[in-house]
Order: sequence, then C-alpha cells, then structure tokens
Amino acid sequence: MSHDHDHHHDNDLDPMAARVRALETILTRKGLVDPAAIDAIVETYETKVGPRNGARVVAKAWSDASFADWLRRDATAAIASLGYSGRQGEHMQAVFNTDKTHNLVVCTLCSCYPWSVLGLPPVWYKAPPYRSRAVIDPRGVLEEFGLTLPNDRKIRVWDSTAELRYLVVPLRPVGAEGWDEERLADLVTRDSMIGTGLALEPAA
Ligand code: FE
Repeated sequence: MSHDHDHHHDNDLDPMAARVRALETILTRKGLVDPAAIDAIVETYETKVGPRNGARVVAKAWSDASFADWLRRDATAAIASLGYSGRQGEHMQAVFNTDKTHNLVVCTLCSCYPWSVLGLPPVWYKAPPYRSRAVIDPRGVLEEFGLTLPNDRKIRVWDSTAELRYLVVPLRPVGAEGWDEERLADLVTRDSMIGTGLALEPAA
C-alpha cells in the first residue's frame, strides 16, 4: 500500500475508531443522528456514570443492613433509590461474596454490563478470551488478575444477558470499622464489582 501522497490520513486512529468515525459521518450526513447528542451520551458515560456509582451502592450495603437486604431481594429498586438507573441497568441482581463463595461476572455472548453502576466496560471484559475462559477456568482467570482465592472458596460465575445484569458485592475488608460511606466507597474498585478483584485493604 502506497502512502507517498500528501493528503491527510487519520493515521492516529485505530481501525475501530476510524470505522466509528466513518459511520458517524455517514449517519450525520443522512440526518439520522445528531453528533451533539452522541457526544452528550458518550460524555455522560465517561464522566457522570462510572464505577463510583456502584461503589456507593456497595458502601451503603456494607453500612446499612436493611439496604443490603433490599439489594439482595430487589437490586433494581434498591439501586434506583440512589438515583442509578436506566440504560443497561434496567434489571439488576446483586450477588454477595461470602467466606464460602466468590462471584464472578461475565457476558459469554457479547458484552452485557451494568452501565448504570459501573459505567462503560473495560476492554478485556468484551474480549473473547475473558468471555470464554471465565466460564471454563475461572480460578485461572482470577490468578491472571492477581487474585488467588483459598482452594475451598467456591467460584460462582454469572453470565449476563440483555435482560439481567449483575453487580458483585465484595466482602467488606477488615480495618474499616466506623468509616462513613464515602470513605468506604474508596475501597470499592470496579474489578471488585465484576469479581476479578477484591475490595482494597484500608491500609493501602
Ligand atoms: Fe452481552
């Protein structure tokens, strides 16, 4: 392929970004989409919605037994009560880690993910190796994330769908007694709510 001509190429874009830009250009020219509306949606999910929402849900569940109970019974409603609802978070189920069971979330079919509480999915979540191996060899996948669980800890894998998405409630770490919810939320990482990590230790 020759590139010794002098007009501009979008060489800074990876192939997928270039394809998205081309598609957006065509749809805009045809009057089918408004670029400002697209930008607003993307900006919302990049800046306003993100794992901090989920972290607040988890911190509240750690702090408030009746909220935890509600979250267990009707996660959609409990989460919506904090103002997190809508797109890709319509039907939620919270799965609680215990000393006996660790929960791991995947979407084997595509990339279903609870946007309303976790924002946009990480690249690896959408990648075929994670999607297939999380089911076949969850313990091995967790090892690759640097997470070694005790051998007697059962790993339960939850396969998301368009209808039902999962939020992992990690175990509350020891040493954060008396912390308020905002401080507790700082311990709740995105990966701990997917199940590929644990909540942070208070000392860290
Ligand atoms: Fe999916």
